[in-house]
Amino acid sequence: MSSHPPRSIPLPVSGPPPEIDTTVWYADGLQFACTQCGNCCTGSPGYVWLTLEDMERIAGYLRLSFDDFTRTYVRRVGERFALLEKSNYDCTFLQPDGKGKAGCRIYPVRPVQCRTWPFWTENLKSTSAWERASGTCPGMRDKSAPHYALDHIETCRQHPESPR
Ligand code: SF4
Ligand code: SF4
Repeated sequence: MSSHPPRSIPLPVSGPPPEIDTTVWYADGLQFACTQCGNCCTGSPGYVWLTLEDMERIAGYLRLSFDDFTRTYVRRVGERFALLEKSNYDCTFLQPDGKGKAGCRIYPVRPVQCRTWPFWTENLKSTSAWERASGTCPGMRDKSAPHYALDHIETCRQHPESPR
């Protein structure tokens, strides 16, 4: 049986289909599977941005009303919304298992920003950028991980919620 976590729901379609350039270095696709190490959900302070759809979906998954969910887990930053962090800068949904791993409590419905990782522009600039990021993300160097085709990678990279 695969040790990879369950696949999450598909990314919401927003805007036109992604532009595909078959000359990019990752044109043959890339492998990735989150190992639940938790590295990308902790560390220095940051923002996990939330869309309205993210908040509605996660509230439903947690069986909370929208208001209860936002009161408990969400902060307002200017005109935008982000998940709260714990005092050690862990994401509010990062759940250490006590054995050195830390899973996401809402993995199947996590925010789009999280679901587009690791197919972010900064990681895809070059093979060395990918390798650099894989230094702290073991899921990017898992040779048994599922393969993602170019159209999926570009859908993630060009998604409005994917950092540029
Ligand atoms: S750093 Fe990579 S492997 Fe670790 S939790 Fe994040 S996505 Fe998963
Ligand atoms: S929502 Fe889940 S995947 Fe996203 S930062 Fe928080 S713990 Fe990590």
